[in-house]
Amino acid sequence: MTTIQPSLDLTPYLLENGNVQSYAWPGGYPIYFILQVGEAICPACVSRNRKLINEAFADHDQQWNVVSSCANYEDDSLYCCRCNEKIESAYGEPEDKYEVIVGNVGTVHTSDNERDALLCFNTYVDRSKSNHGRCAVEDVTMMHNGDIVKEYVGTMPRA
Ligand SMILES: [Zn+2]
Repeated sequence: MTTIQPSLDLTPYLLENGNVQSYAWPGGYPIYFILQVGEAICPACVSRNRKLINEAFADHDQQWNVVSSCANYEDDSLYCCRCNEKIESAYGEPEDKYEVIVGNVGTVHTSDNERDALLCFNTYVDRSKSNHGRCAVEDVTMMHNGDIVKEYVGTMPRA
């Protein structure tokens, strides 16, 4: 039989409303907790189950015994063992997403590479300017993480 490990003192993690904080202070990194059984549990579940967690040591309940906390810097596939919600990570999400969108065609390029996106953008702007084919006089937009960074508004050449 595995012995019960000392529980983590949650006091430093408590917010004024009695819930457990979701971000490390200072630093702002998303945090999660580790149960004695080796599973990750999210701050929301710790907050919801404070009673079970507080009594885990006395009850020898390893399933609810929180033994440590961690900052999640970049694990993008970390899920809470209780609610199955994804545990947010500081750097794990792909930071850069570039898209090139052409008027009537839709998204023609998606990558994390600004250079590639720019090349694609320029190519379609050329096509739009050249005024023939499917992309003639179409708007071309380059997006970075949902924001427009470059925009070409297709105009009909003057007759
Ligand atoms: Zn959870």
